[in-house]
Formats: sequence, structure tokens, C-alpha cells
Amino acid sequence: MINKAVVSDIPDDELKGKKVFVRVDFNVPIKDGRISEDYRIRRTVPTIDYLVEKGAKVILGSHLGRPKGRDLPGLSLRPIAFRLTELLGRDVKFSPKIIGKDVHYEVDNLNNGGVMLLENLRFHIEERNNDEEFAKELASLADIYVNDAFGTSHRAHASTYGMALHFEKKVAGFVVNKEIMFMSSMLMNPLKPYVVIVGGAKIKDKIGAMKNLMEKADKVLLGGGIAYTFLKAKDVPIGNSICEDEMVPWAKEALEKYGEKIFLPVDHVVAESFENRKTSIVVDNEIPDDYHGFDIGPKTMTKYSSLIKGNGTIFWNGPMGLFEDSDFSSGTTQIARSMALATWRGATTVIGGGDTISAMRNAEVLDLEITHISTGGGASLEFLGGSDLPGITVLNDKN
Ligand code: AMP
Repeated sequence: MINKAVVSDIPDDELKGKKVFVRVDFNVPIKDGRISEDYRIRRTVPTIDYLVEKGAKVILGSHLGRPKGRDLPGLSLRPIAFRLTELLGRDVKFSPKIIGKDVHYEVDNLNNGGVMLLENLRFHIEERNNDEEFAKELASLADIYVNDAFGTSHRAHASTYGMALHFEKKVAGFVVNKEIMFMSSMLMNPLKPYVVIVGGAKIKDKIGAMKNLMEKADKVLLGGGIAYTFLKAKDVPIGNSICEDEMVPWAKEALEKYGEKIFLPVDHVVAESFENRKTSIVVDNEIPDDYHGFDIGPKTMTKYSSLIKGNGTIFWNGPMGLFEDSDFSSGTTQIARSMALATWRGATTVIGGGDTISAMRNAEVLDLEITHISTGGGASLEFLGGSDLPGITVLNDKN
């Protein structure tokens, strides 16, 4: 079990008046200055509230999108400072600068319990490069480091790793702590039966986690592009469906080793092409040449739903098809609804990954109908794959 110190482990008198840098994950969709989805912002409120209540001076840092070292106004965090002001019910200052004299001045002038948000950390190329000087500069802003950005914990960037090395006190925020608790129990001792559902486009991005999960799980249900690589490994015709040819040998090995617990689609929604979906049809397992499989079919949905039961643990990552398009979203919607039903019936359900969360929202499944929604897709998969996450490893152990 990974046991990291949490912000609430720090004695109150060691927080009062102290400058606390909190790495948050405010990588939210913003268009024309409007935030369309603020789930990630809302989730960090308990950590910020706690620090405010204890009289700390809170400095928040996050990335947004991929500006690659450029100051792109469309990727500014300024709108988030306004949203956060509403959510916290207190003024949140915004600093257009990230490092330098001006920021130090602003931080020094924060009242106890004051909150300031820095501009997009990735406006500096040094953030992603984990530049030592930049990390040191960032660290010089604060006395204590808190990681509350699970979604970037698998990256050794300046704000997620490099700067943390300069602190004596470096702890997890409440978001990261909850993720560690859930993910560790999934890795070490999941309640049985343990059913894992993996979809999405690529095996390559998920291979570490898939290896680990296949070993631990009682049943593995595959869908999405991933399933076609497995079907090809079984010599089932897949037409023009997406397939990672270089992963076919690995899929073959996995089928030999874990064949009896791996479930694959038995029918598909197919179309000649994404553009030509008038020809969209459902076929049994063999997909004709010139057709793409874009979603699992109704027989597969029924089978998978019957395997998502109301006990044990169910983990789901990745859509069952090209779910962004309503013609090909039924399989994914059905899985989301089966997950919600399993939660009501008593199972522990966990989902991870941005796509999986939006699929859940499309299916009108409520947050409370899933036991744990992981904010980090890549990070949760790496964690479950048994990899060390630099942003977690770097934190102090409990006691
Ligand atoms: P990932 O990031 O690997 O979880 O992949 C998610 C993406 O996979 C989504 O954008 C889906 O549209 C895409 N996807 C899933 N199944 C298919 C499929 N059968 N054909 C094409 N794209 C797919």
C-alpha cells in the first residue's frame, strides 16, 4: 500500500501564515473564455478550503493544454481565477507571471488565507523540460509543496516533480490522497470478483496496465479499437477496422495465457467509412472487407452487461467504439449505464480517463452512481500498471 503524507497530517501551527504551493489540475475545456466543464476545479475545493481555513497563503499552479512554451491568450488560466472566486466564495488573485520579482511581491502580500492562481505553467517551455533553474524558481515561492493533480503525477515536469525536490514538506492534497487509496486497493486487493473493461483506440498506451489487470482480474471485457487487434490475433476478419498490427503477437500471447478470462465482441456496428455511415449495419463476428467496426453490437452489449454484476470491483477505461458520434455510441452508453446499475446493486465501480468520463456524462450517469471517478486517465493506467508515478513517489511518506 502506498502511504503518503496528506495535507491534513501537517500540524495547524505549521500551516498558519506559511506559503503553500498547490499543484492542481485545472486542465479544463475553455472556449472563448468560457469554461464548459469545471469538474476538475470543483474537486480541488476541499484542499484549498482546508488550507485557507488553517490560515495558509495558497499559491495554485496548473497547466492548460499544450502551449509549448508560448503565451497563448486562449490558454490563459485567467477565466479559472474567476470561476474559483465563485466556487470558494472568496477573492482569488491572478498572477500573469509565474516566476520573478513581481510574483514574489504578490505572494508576500497575500493575507493569511489568501489564494492566488499563477498563469499557465506551460507558457514556459522549462515546465515540461523539468528545467532545474525553473523548478528552483518555482520552489522559491513557497514553504510547503502539495500535489493535488493526480492527472499529471505520471509526468516528471518542473511543477510535478522538479520543484518538489526542494521542499522538506511535500504532501498529497485530498484529491491525490483519494486516488492513491482507491488505486492502491485496486492494485493490491480488489474486492472479488474483479471485472475489468478496457476500450479505446490503442493497446500501446495501456499495455502496462493491461498486463497487470489481466493477471489480477477475473474477467476482462475488451471493446473499441483494442478489440480488433485481439480479434485479428484470433484470425477473425476485421475488415478495415483500426488495428495495431505490431501488437498482434502480444495479443496472441495474452490470449494463450488468459484466454478463458478475456471476452471479445461477438458482433459489431460497422460502416463503409466514417463519412459513409448510411451503410451502417450490424454484423456478426466477421466484418466484411472495406467495412470498419465502429461500435460493439447488441449481442455483445447484452453479454457484457450480464457480466457487470452487483458485487466485487469493476474498473472501466476507454470507450467501446467511436462514441463521439451518436451513430456509434450505444455500446459505450450501455456500459456506462451497466456500471451505474452495478453501483446501485453494491459493486465498487471505478472509471478513469477523460473519454470514459465524458461517455459517462453522455449516458446521463451521475457522479454519485460511480464509486470513484479517477481524474487522471494516463496516470491511473500507469499506476495500475505498477509504474512509479514521479509526482507521487517524490512526496513524503506518512510519518
Ligand atoms: P483511448 O484514448 O485510447 O482511450 O481512445 C479513445 C478514442 O478511441 C476515442 O476517441 C474513440 O473514438 C476511439 N475509438 C474507440 N473505438 C474505436 C473504433 N472502433 N474505431 C475508431 N476509433 C475508436
